[in-house]
Amino acid sequence: MKCPFCGSLDTQVIDSRVNEAGDAIRRRRRCAQCDKRFTTWETAELRPPQIVKTNGTREDFSETKLREGFRRALHKRPVSTELVDAAVDRIRQHLLTLGEREVPARMVGELVMNELKKLDKVAYIRFASVYRSFQDVEDFRDVLRDIDE
Ligand SMILES: [Zn+2]
Repeated sequence: MKCPFCGSLDTQVIDSRVNEAGDAIRRRRRCAQCDKRFTTWETAELRPPQIVKTNGTREDFSETKLREGFRRALHKRPVSTELVDAAVDRIRQHLLTLGEREVPARMVGELVMNELKKLDKVAYIRFASVYRSFQDVEDFRDVLRDIDE
């Protein structure tokens, strides 16, 4: 850790302690060059990544949008809200554990497809057909083969 005063890389941790909530560590450091002291904080980054769309624009991850996507794909299908909520939550958790600043929208699409495949095959085809827009016959066959498994 670089000293914020003189820029030296020769700094030492002289004290570390966990804060009361237990979700951050405070470290006291001392610079061996200029002998100044400073504090750093270590916390877990639990912020969902930004979603990068195919046209290059970015948007915040939105659970509402995700749920809306599921709702559309599952229109008139016998799948409970609880199951959809659980699926949305799994995707959110997955994105959080990645710890990435940005992920391609395509990745989220794949995660949705994986969840739909488990929830309802009709909804899965419906979503996949729109999402992948079946660029060629091979793609379509791949989807059908996946469903047969
Ligand atoms: Zn220094």
